[in-house]
Amino acid sequence: MSLSAITNVFSGNPLDRQSARRSDAAFIGGLAADPGTLVLPVWNGQPFVEKTADGFRLAYLAEAIGRTLTEVEETRLFLGMWKDTAVFAVDLEDRTDPSAGPLAGLGEFRDMRSLAMTLAPAEAAIAATAKGVFEWRRRHRFCAVCGAPSQAAEGGWKRICPSCSAEHFPRTDPVVIMLPVIGERCLMGRQKVWPKGMWSALAGFLEPGETIEEACARELKEEAGVTALRVHYHSNQPWPFPNSLMIGLIAEIADGEAIPDEAELEAVRWFTRTEARALMAGELEGAFCPPPMAIAHQLLKSWAAGDV
Ligand SMILES: [Zn+2]
Repeated sequence: MSLSAITNVFSGNPLDRQSARRSDAAFIGGLAADPGTLVLPVWNGQPFVEKTADGFRLAYLAEAIGRTLTEVEETRLFLGMWKDTAVFAVDLEDRTDPSAGPLAGLGEFRDMRSLAMTLAPAEAAIAATAKGVFEWRRRHRFCAVCGAPSQAAEGGWKRICPSCSAEHFPRTDPVVIMLPVIGERCLMGRQKVWPKGMWSALAGFLEPGETIEEACARELKEEAGVTALRVHYHSNQPWPFPNSLMIGLIAEIADGEAIPDEAELEAVRWFTRTEARALMAGELEGAFCPPPMAIAHQLLKSWAAGDV
C-alpha cells in the first residue's frame, strides 16, 4: 500500500522533522534565532490563521515577531524544515487572546475542529502536530517517576527531569475505531452525550498487552454484545484531542442480536448500505453521522461504496 493510499484529515504533514538532529542544541538554537524562520502561534490549542477567499490558512509570523510572544524556551516547538526554512510553533496559554493584543490585525485563533476541513490538508496536519505536542506538554509538566518539575529538551520533543534524569517523550494513545459489518448491514452506536440523532462507529482505547484485533473484539463484545470474526485494517488518523491515534478497522461479525452496554452506549442501530449512503448525504430522517474529517465517516464511506 502506498503512503497515500487512504489519507485522513490531520495526516500528511509535509515538514521534514529532522528528528535525528533535535538533540543538537546548537542546530535548534541556530534555527530558532534565524531571521528567516517562521513561527506558528498556538493559543490554548487553537492555531493562528488568516482568512483566504475560500477558507483559512495558517498565519506564520516572522521569527522577530514570534520572539516577542514569549521569553520561555519551554513553550517553543521545532516542527521541522520546509525546504530551507525552519518552522517553529509557540504555545501561548493562560492569557487573554493575543490576536486582540500583540498580534492585532495579523490573524485570529480558531478551534482545530472548525479548521480541519477549511485548512489545506498539509496545513491541518502541521497544526495538528503542534497541538498534539503542546497538549502533551501541558499535561506532563512534572516527572512521572519522581514528581519534580521537568524541562523541555530537543526542540520540545522530549522532557527531562533534572532531579532523577528520567526522560519523557510525547504520548500517542492508540484507539481502535471500528465499523462492525455483516453482509449488507453495519452496526453503529450512539452515546447519550452526543447530539440527538448522531450515529457513529464504535471505539475504545487499546489496553496494555492487547493487539489491535484483540482490542477491537473486546470493545465490540463489551459495547454491543457482538462477536468479531475477522478484522480488516482500513486507515489511521492522528487525532489531537488531545493525543490519540485512531486506528480504523472494518470488523466482520457473527450473526446475532446487538445489545448496547448502557454504560457506554445509549443505543445501537443497524444500517443497510443504502441507508449508510443516505446517512452520509444527510438524507436519512432524524439521523446523521460524523463529518468527513472523522475517520468514522471514512470507514462508513468505504463500506457503503463496497470498497472494503
Ligand atoms: Zn524525576
